[in-house]
Amino acid sequence: MTSIPQDLVAATSIAPEHKRDMDLAIKYACQGPRYTSYPTAPQFRQDFPLDQYKAWQGKDGDHKRAPLSLYIHLPFCNDICYYCACNKIVTREQGVARQYLSHLETEIELQSQLVGDKRPITQMHWGGGTPTYLDHAEITELMHTLASHFRLLDKGYREYSIEIDPRTIESSTIALLKGVGFNRISLGIQDFDPLVQKAVNRIQPYKEVAPLVDCIRSHDFRSLSFDLIYGLPHQDRYTMSETLRKVIALRPDRIACYNYAHLPERFSSQRAIDRLTLPEPQEKLLLQQIISHALQDAGYLHIGMDHYVLPDDELALAQREGRLQRNFQGYSLHMADDLLGLGVSAISQIGDFYLQNERGLDAYYEMIDQGQLPSTRGCKVSSEDRLRRHIIMGLISELKLDIAECNRQFGIDFTTKFGDELKALRPMEQDGLLDISEEEISVNHRGRPFLRNICMPFDAYLDDHRGDQPPPRFSATI
Ligand code: SF4
Repeated sequence: MTSIPQDLVAATSIAPEHKRDMDLAIKYACQGPRYTSYPTAPQFRQDFPLDQYKAWQGKDGDHKRAPLSLYIHLPFCNDICYYCACNKIVTREQGVARQYLSHLETEIELQSQLVGDKRPITQMHWGGGTPTYLDHAEITELMHTLASHFRLLDKGYREYSIEIDPRTIESSTIALLKGVGFNRISLGIQDFDPLVQKAVNRIQPYKEVAPLVDCIRSHDFRSLSFDLIYGLPHQDRYTMSETLRKVIALRPDRIACYNYAHLPERFSSQRAIDRLTLPEPQEKLLLQQIISHALQDAGYLHIGMDHYVLPDDELALAQREGRLQRNFQGYSLHMADDLLGLGVSAISQIGDFYLQNERGLDAYYEMIDQGQLPSTRGCKVSSEDRLRRHIIMGLISELKLDIAECNRQFGIDFTTKFGDELKALRPMEQDGLLDISEEEISVNHRGRPFLRNICMPFDAYLDDHRGDQPPPRFSATI
């Protein structure tokens, strides 16, 4: 039986150290990037050097044979979840998946001509939207097309994962996914509380999810992940404790707990959520602490900012060995330096470039019909960007930065170059969030919820936006 820390749950007996953390949540509440890339997406421009990217891809070299990750974006959903900030299209119109699939397959052909077919695909992720919006024949066809144009692997160490919406999946689909080569499943759980589910328009009772989990287990997938969200309407310490009990009973291998970002001016579906039903920043921090205590008490290890894994999971080992990476899908094993994104709005991180595909479906189709690569925004990473990316990704993945190693790798004197940044971190050090020595910056357990704040001083672009454009709007860091 899992113990949920009662001093956290009981409203009238919050221990002094938890009260202190809540005060810190108020102090550091601000908006900031999630750092799934650096530079972050607002820095991607339409006038990025696509020709240079193509020229680099045209040359022979190690990058034509090195491992590669694929991300495939499948944007359609049957219904809207009000909290959603994904690039998705809610429709039940007949034939939309067929039309999308034929364009995606043409893109796969175009991209593979450029990237080559020699690179072993060590990781692949189908995300969305709802990837299983595709029917069985379409899923099989898409995997066949990918296998015809890229070097897919059947090795046990590959990580081929797919996101599943528990509301729309049948057991026969689970069997099919295993059969076409997926070995990891990610389930969007979010919260088990009926009132919370109703408020976000995503009804999926525990009694329907539990048999699905049994079905996935019976097909012997290598790993099952749950996505949870905290900060949703009507969530409080009691509902969260109950959700965690159910989650722990199902014992997924990995759990990602995302902080809900309420940005109704950017995401219109979020306007259906009553702001007054959302937990305040202090309550959100409390929810985060309840999650952290309950999952660690149940044997999970806390990884990076917001992931929890069973101790024998590869991510736990990867964090110990410094092989954890953060990218657009969150945290994963570092099995390939490059990620190729396919499909509308998909982002690639490849060589010195970030590229994002056209975000509008009609414009994406038009470019594909004209035989063009659909990349319409991006940036070339400079040597300064690479250095800052190393620092930010080290802090947000490993929770530390080895200063001597950074000096060696980039030929700098860290303390001189980043004097202002270190100065900005001093108040956080005084608040007990991190330690700074000559050898390293290390984030302690109290600093974990503030990782985005800790990275922000190293982001050279936060105050740098074009005069003719509004500053980028980020989500709340806490
Ligand atoms: S949360 Fe997932 S299923 Fe819901 S609307 Fe967004 S992409 Fe679709």
